[in-house]
Amino acid sequence: MSEEKSPQQVPLEAPNPYELRVNLGVNVAESAVKEALKTGDLGFLHSFTTGSTVDGPGVRVVAWTSGCNWRCVYCHNPDTWNMMNGMPVTLERAIEALGKYRHGLRIMAGGFTLSGGEPLMQDRFAARLLTRVKAMDIHTALDTNGYLGERLSDEELDQIDVVLLDLKTWDPERHQRLTGKDNAPTLAFARRLAERKRTIWLRYVLVPGLTDDIDDINQTASFAAGLGNVARVDVLPFHQMGRYKWKKLAIDYTLDNVSAPSPELVDRVCKQFRAAGLKAY
Ligand code: SF4
Repeated sequence: MSEEKSPQQVPLEAPNPYELRVNLGVNVAESAVKEALKTGDLGFLHSFTTGSTVDGPGVRVVAWTSGCNWRCVYCHNPDTWNMMNGMPVTLERAIEALGKYRHGLRIMAGGFTLSGGEPLMQDRFAARLLTRVKAMDIHTALDTNGYLGERLSDEELDQIDVVLLDLKTWDPERHQRLTGKDNAPTLAFARRLAERKRTIWLRYVLVPGLTDDIDDINQTASFAAGLGNVARVDVLPFHQMGRYKWKKLAIDYTLDNVSAPSPELVDRVCKQFRAAGLKAY
């Protein structure tokens, strides 16, 4: 994707979220952005992708929102940090785009996943979109770092079939170092989801040397198992597919020399989660 293209020239659908997209929302007036955040009538999206089999059950259509409140050092999509990099998309246009897939998604036992960026940066858009999609009888999933979970009411949470919760690391200081934020709100959101008996699929990005500490993972696993609503854990091996975005965006990237985890390391981490009584893949 060329950075010179205007929003009108950029299709909503992208082959995958690794396409670099910037400045697509910069022409939206500040007052309109404020109104959008208040009402959810308009959202800012990096893209839609179809055919995902790794973002929830079955085959998924995924909408990637722009805007994130964290700065993970291993983020694969730093172009989604800035909300104004996303394309302005009305709620109605998003619903219409999704409506095209409803029958196919049902046949493939799939659904819709709202991911990002951090979708709850645009909590009104997220809540209204998920509610409308659920009303179309499409399975719904929210992929979130959980930090802003309190922005969703209990009724809104009930519209989400699965929360894909990204737990980055257990140790609060390490978490601060890796993401720039405290993990307490994420853990509180996980507890709230457990109280409301909402299903969690835990996502754990495994980065050699950063998130592979044995004790840390044991603590994470023990916490997750104790919740009682974690249906599975996906151990996601770190990769370098997003590195070019850091370079293009001229953001200091510190993981040039970090390799993908070995199969043995992935296996060890999966076993740690399984030893706590969880399904891990
Ligand atoms: S929470 Fe996700 S989108 Fe945000 S910085 Fe971390 S990895 Fe990137």
